[in-house]
Parts: sequence; structure tokens; C-alpha cells
Amino acid sequence: MAVALRKAGIEDFVILEKALDVGGVWRDNRYPGAACDVPSHLYSFSFHPNPDWSRKFARQPEILAYLQDVASRFDLRRHIRFGAEVRSVAYDEGPSHWQVALTDGTVLQTQFVVTAMGQLSRPALPDIPGQESFTGRAFHSANWDASFDLRGKRVAVIGTGASAIQFVPVIADQAASLTVFQRSPAYILPRADRAYTRLERFLCRWMPWTQRLHRLGIYVQYESRALAFTRLKGLMKPLGERPFRKLLGRQVSSPGLRAKMTPDYPVGCKRILLSSEYLATFERPTVRLETDRIRRITPTGIEMQDGEHHEVDAIIYGTGFATQEFLAPLAITGRRGTSLSEAWARGAKAYLGIMVPDFPNFFMLYGPNTNLGHNSIIYMLESQIAHVMRCLKQMDRSQATHVDVADSAYQQFTEGVQRDLARSVWAGCRSWYVDARGHNGSNWPGFTLSYRWLTRWGRLSAYRFTRQG
Ligand code: NAP
Repeated sequence: MAVALRKAGIEDFVILEKALDVGGVWRDNRYPGAACDVPSHLYSFSFHPNPDWSRKFARQPEILAYLQDVASRFDLRRHIRFGAEVRSVAYDEGPSHWQVALTDGTVLQTQFVVTAMGQLSRPALPDIPGQESFTGRAFHSANWDASFDLRGKRVAVIGTGASAIQFVPVIADQAASLTVFQRSPAYILPRADRAYTRLERFLCRWMPWTQRLHRLGIYVQYESRALAFTRLKGLMKPLGERPFRKLLGRQVSSPGLRAKMTPDYPVGCKRILLSSEYLATFERPTVRLETDRIRRITPTGIEMQDGEHHEVDAIIYGTGFATQEFLAPLAITGRRGTSLSEAWARGAKAYLGIMVPDFPNFFMLYGPNTNLGHNSIIYMLESQIAHVMRCLKQMDRSQATHVDVADSAYQQFTEGVQRDLARSVWAGCRSWYVDARGHNGSNWPGFTLSYRWLTRWGRLSAYRFTRQG
């Protein structure tokens, strides 16, 4: 967003960053084995390709270095206020501008607000009693305690999602014993990772069209999967279930263990995970899978419903993130004191995932229903950024000071999204995509290309551009 603003000659903006460096989830998630499960040539900005990606699925340090490089190359750091945590964002009807209050008491007045807080930034601990009583070491995967030496320790991991399947194979090498507590198994497919050769990197650097072609190839391959998620769910069997069963059969010898690791929900409903090592880890004599329900955490370990007690030295929570309270814990109020959480009382939604009526000049990046199960979120973000820039340009052209989305367009768009989601693979189970009422405020139910079309070329008739003051 900042790069787009600067390219358009807009310099009068500030980026508020709670932490002390750039990098977002790639700064925070430093667990062993952290890597992206979208190929890096696609999981990077179109305006700043990186010919030096060392492998197909780059690891966290390389992605973080890339993001920091973007901040430096485009001279963004001078716009960033680090350590600036926002408490509330309120529209002030009098002067018709936004008041952004920080936790240190500072209040900024701005014409526009763009939120870019992500959906996977607040670690969630499970609702298991007794956590505070544990006397060993305990931490969440997003707050990895690198000072704690796992060698020779008895370790418990709770959760078997995208993060856990990356760090479990690595820490299994170190821990004396490892018990993984699984609530529901996941569909896991092999991750076809490999290092790029020197020749490939040379070509990407000196013949950039080869890199663009490579990126396009990955994009088309991933994009075609949207069909299976949203329209032709029958494709999920050959594309997801069969390869999973093959991998499971190859890597896990015990039929009992295979049964425990086989999901009972439709493939794709929860995020499909990629790992060529995770399943095989359970063949090791020191690694155990526990699938019974946890009753409580005790000072020395984990007690199961049947009374069995696992004594451990450390508990690692791979229990994911608070995904459903979008933009929480910020208090956001628009016109007439409408709070965003009230507007979303029956589920988060937004026009194009970007705007909500009565919140003029307030844009969201990675807002409701813009998450993906099949492709790179960077592509969606760039669509949103281009859309915000279109709105700003239209305001310039029409000499408007404010833009707001019409209620009718908002209703029509968000109802259409929910209708499409009801037919999608995500309607078949409980996952972090849906809230307690079953409302899916997370995913985009279609192609990223159709989203790009709507954001880049769709008419702006949904908006009211007005001049105030
Ligand atoms: P997650 O996928 O939400 O997994 C959380 C795990 O914790 C699930 O297995 C869940 O079980 C379990 N869990 C939650 N509460 C529990 C409880 N009370 N008792 C027992 N188990 C509990 O979280 P994540 O692995 O951190 O990943 C979150 C998202 O981050 C991913 O879906 C992905 O979008 C992103 N991510 C991406 C990458 C990448 O490579 N790009 C890597 C890591 C994460 P249930 O399934 O039963 O709920």
C-alpha cells in the first residue's frame, strides 16, 4: 500500500506498527521449520520480484529478509512509526475525519484509514483448564522460545495445524520424547520442495521474463484448484484425498495410526497442509500421537479424560490464531457512532472485503472474505491495494473528499458471497474459516482472477463520492 501511495506521488501518510520491526507474521513466527506453503516466486510482490529465492518454498528467515528489503528499497521506514499500537479508530462527524488513538495516548487526525493487520496475528491458546498451573516451559508456536533447549526434554505439542506440521518433524530430532495431541487430523499432501539451481537463479536475474513465466506457471497451477474448492467439489477426491491416502499408506505403517490420522470431514474444508515429513515422524519410537480428549493441564503435564497422565517438561501450543474477531482488539466506530463490531454482530462482511457502509474513507486490506485456500494472499492484497488507489484517483477526479459504499451494493455483494460459500467445500465442517454461528467471514469463494477483475476493472458505481466541509 505504501509503495503504491508513493508511486502515485502521495507522501503524506504514516504507517503505525505495534512491533519494533517490519515483517508481520514472518517476523513473529520463528518456530523451527517455519516456511511458506505457497511457492515463493508467487508469494512475493509483483512489483519486486526476487530472483534469488533459494528454494521453491522459502523458509521464514529468507521471507523476512525479503520483506525487510522491500521496506528499505522503497524507502518506507521513514513512514513507519514503530512501537505504535492503535487502541481505537473513530470517525469524527464534525470535521469529517478519523481520529486514531494510540495506546500511548497520542491521537492522530487523518482523512483516510487503511487497515492492514492480517487475520493470523493474534495467537490463540486453547480453552483447556489448568494452563497457568504448569511448572515446566510453555509457549505458543508464534512466540517460540528459542532460549529453551529441547534436547533431552519430554515435549508435548497441542494442535496439528499448518504450524505444528512444520515444527514437529524438526523438534522430533531434538526431544527425548514427543507427544502430539491431535483434536482433528488434517489432510496432508507432499510438499514438492527443492532448491533452485544456480542456473535457474542466473536466468531469473538476467532474463527476468523466465522468472515471470515461472511465476505465471505456478499461478495458473494454483488458480485452477479454485474450481475444486468452489464449483466442482468432486475433483477434491482425485486432487486431495487420493494423494493423501497414498502418502499416509507410504509413510505410516500401523493401520491403527493411519485410521487416527484420517480426517472424517470432506477434503479441503479445513486448510490442506503440505509436508513430506510430518506423517513419517510418527514412525519414530520417541514420537507418539495422542487423540483422546484432554481434561486438564496439571503442574507436571497433561491429563486425559480417561485419567492417563503425560508427564512433560514443555508444552508447545500449535493452536492457531484468533481469526474471527476481525480487526480486534481495535474499537472502530464510524458515522453516528456505529461500531464495526456491532455492524458485524451477525458475521464479518465487507464490499469486496474492503469497505463497509458508514465507515467513509476507511479501507481494509485482507478484510472479510478475502482469504484463500488455494493461492497466494499477496495476489489478493495487490488487487485490494489497486482498488484503494482507484478510489483515491476517482476522488481526485471528482474533487470529492469522501468515499462511502452504498448499503444496497454492500448487501447485494455480501449476500452473493455467502450464497457461493454455501456451495463451497468450506461449508462441510468447522474450521477457523467459520465463526461460532457457522458464518464464513474468511474465504473468497472463487478465482483470484475474478476478484482481480472486480477490484481492478469493475465499475465504481457502488460508491458515493462526496465533497464535505
Ligand atoms: P490452525 O491451522 O488453526 O491449527 C490449530 C490446531 O490447534 C488445530 O489442529 C486445532 O484442532 C488445534 N486446536 C485448537 N484449539 C484446540 C484445543 N482447545 N484443544 C486441542 N487442539 C486444539 O493454526 P496454525 O497451524 O497456526 O495455522 C493457522 C493458519 O496460519 C494456517 O491455516 C495458514 O493459513 C497459516 N499458516 C501458514 C503457513 C504457511 O506455510 N504459509 C504456515 C503456518 C500457518 P482442530 O482442527 O480440531 O480445530
